[in-house]
Amino acid sequence: MLMKGKIGLVMGLANKFSIAYGISESLSNRGADLIFTSQTEYFKNKITEIASSFSKHEILLCDVSKDGDIDKLFDMILSDVGKLDFIVHSLAFSDKNELCGKYYDTSRSNFLNAMNISCYSFTEVCKNAAKLMKDGGSVVTLTYYGAEKVVPNYNVMALAKAALETSVKYLAADLGEFGIRVNAISAGPIKTLAASGVGEFSKILEYERWRSPMGRNVTQKDIGEACAFLLSDMSSGITGEILHVDCGSNIIGVKF
Ligand code: NAD
Repeated sequence: MLMKGKIGLVMGLANKFSIAYGISESLSNRGADLIFTSQTEYFKNKITEIASSFSKHEILLCDVSKDGDIDKLFDMILSDVGKLDFIVHSLAFSDKNELCGKYYDTSRSNFLNAMNISCYSFTEVCKNAAKLMKDGGSVVTLTYYGAEKVVPNYNVMALAKAALETSVKYLAADLGEFGIRVNAISAGPIKTLAASGVGEFSKILEYERWRSPMGRNVTQKDIGEACAFLLSDMSSGITGEILHVDCGSNIIGVKF
């Protein structure tokens, strides 16, 4: 019951394959109360069904690309709940037609949209977090190894993740004085709705399994458990970090 008495916001649950689902299970199993966001009404019905297995929950609409939606979300939580102990930001977007082929073919509009949804939204969320985390708190976002090294077809999403990882450090510096910690999990590849938009994703899965010293890919549960640690008081001295949860595949430079 590591998270008993804590209440948090989970952004990015779409279905039972979502990384946010694994995270929510780990948090709920440890006693946390959860509030979810849904990008659209359509997703809201699905999320309501999925979230019914978690202890206490509520679902609020928030499309992070819409001006004012994030502010409205936090104002609603402030008036209804009054506080938050943690936030999970597990969302990203790029036009899938640009997650294949050459990076230089990225259009200006998709570059800006991918950056806006996948990176800027995290900054806006963290700014709002300060209003609701009067006793401190912990915020975690999700990134990927493609921010560090070239991964075929990851293209514009790699740039968004690189910017997101740098945001983690700047936001940790901004929010440290309020006792708010900001970290990222660099998750190994997992087959989800978003991931299936990346060209030849099954090859990435296969390659990372082969590279991993543990000989397997990560699971939603692996990410969920690590995230529960980062959101709990057990990680009270950790902020501004990018924690790799990828079965060690990033440590192998060359494998024979
Ligand atoms: P997913 O498709 O289950 O989740 C993506 C979520 O992003 C969805 O819930 C979707 O509604 C949300 N979203 C997209 N645009 C939005 C918007 N405008 N407003 C609000 N929500 C929006 O996929 P996932 O793989 O669980 O992705 C979660 C996070 O994990 C993403 O940041 C992704 O880049 C990251 N990640 C995924 C992998 C992987 O291999 N699956 C690896 C590393 C990092």
